[in-house]
Amino acid sequence: MKITNLRVENFRNYASLNLPLQNAVNIIYGNNAQGKTNFLEAIYYAAFGIPARTRNEDELVRFTADSFCSEVKFKNSYTENKITVKRWQQLNRWKKEIFLNDKKISAKEHYGLLNIVLFAPDDLQIVKGEPGLRRKFLDMEIAQTNKYYYELLVKYNKILAQRNKFLKNARDTEVTDEEQLKVWDEELSSVAAEIVVIRLKVLKSISQISAEIYSKITEEKEVFSVDYLLKTAQDSKIENNLQEKGEFKEFYLKEMEKRRVLDTLRGYTSIGPHRDDLLIKVDANNLRSFGSQGQQRSGALALKLAELEFIKENKEEYPVLLLDDVMSELDGNRRKQLLTFINGKVQTFLTVNDKELVKYLPDSKYFYVENGKISEE
Ligand code: ATP
Ligand code: MG
Repeated sequence: MKITNLRVENFRNYASLNLPLQNAVNIIYGNNAQGKTNFLEAIYYAAFGIPARTRNEDELVRFTADSFCSEVKFKNSYTENKITVKRWQQLNRWKKEIFLNDKKISAKEHYGLLNIVLFAPDDLQIVKGEPGLRRKFLDMEIAQTNKYYYELLVKYNKILAQRNKFLKNARDTEVTDEEQLKVWDEELSSVAAEIVVIRLKVLKSISQISAEIYSKITEEKEVFSVDYLLKTAQDSKIENNLQEKGEFKEFYLKEMEKRRVLDTLRGYTSIGPHRDDLLIKVDANNLRSFGSQGQQRSGALALKLAELEFIKENKEEYPVLLLDDVMSELDGNRRKQLLTFINGKVQTFLTVNDKELVKYLPDSKYFYVENGKISEE
């Protein structure tokens, strides 16, 4: 996939921008706080309809403005399309609309049209941070290539919220409608099972690809691996026994039963795919607890580059790669490894302070950013 134009209005510190893009490698450089990351964020927002580095969409609108939009034209081997995401304030409420070639579409139709992989310094947190970040990494990766999975997640979260509400109510009133709870258990475990089966399948492929990439990056004999950590009533275990949807459903029904009293006391569902995790290891050691800074960085990079390959396998096209400020953090070998990836085959947007760090890349173009304005070189 290749982005051929970016247009934004009132997005972060950009008042307006309309920029044709022709090259495989696009280097966005300039001083701190000028709008380099904001540029990548605009692309990300047009692709996913959610902000890249905040939960709060309201932060995206330019100070003093009351509407904003981000629009990309992009092409794959077959067609060229245009996505527009607009958000505006009306009577103090925010509204949002998404368009494909000027025709309104839903968030569900939007997600995954334009595939993007973003690698930013924060992504080290995939290795180091909370389980939720690893789940998000895996979920976004799958949902980008699998609409059905996207729908499963939406469905799961809805049922989960309803079940939690039910549990809170049971706690507060000290009355539990057992029949109703069974209905929620049934529905939740059924969707949970589907989610986990898909996650396991995808993780197998991600684990394999990222292990290969890791050994290339580090040029060492260390073995990188990623396992699925399934939350159970007692603890967590690496999942390698259950396989079929039916088996997982049974598993979840039993586990929810075991946790019924505790969950009612707490007023939430303490088991399910929303509590699972990934165990990232180098040799026998958990990278999160025992990895060196450099190993953790290589691990995060390997996972992200594996995402590129995974999307290519599933969509027959490489996604667009956004690299925010990563060059300065990588040592020579890792930088070289990264550059061989972006060498022409993957359209890449990368930000740097110092453009000397990225020289002699084929089919490349430099964009200088200053105070929300871009000039081409
Ligand atoms: P660095 O090299 O430090 O990463 P950068 O060029 O990536 O810098 P950005 O994060 O893209 O910088 O832009 C930061 C600038 O954008 C800051 O000056 C900030 O005040 C401004 N900014 C952020 N959000 C908004 C907004 N909603 N409206 C206007 N300006 C904003
Ligand atoms: Mg930045």
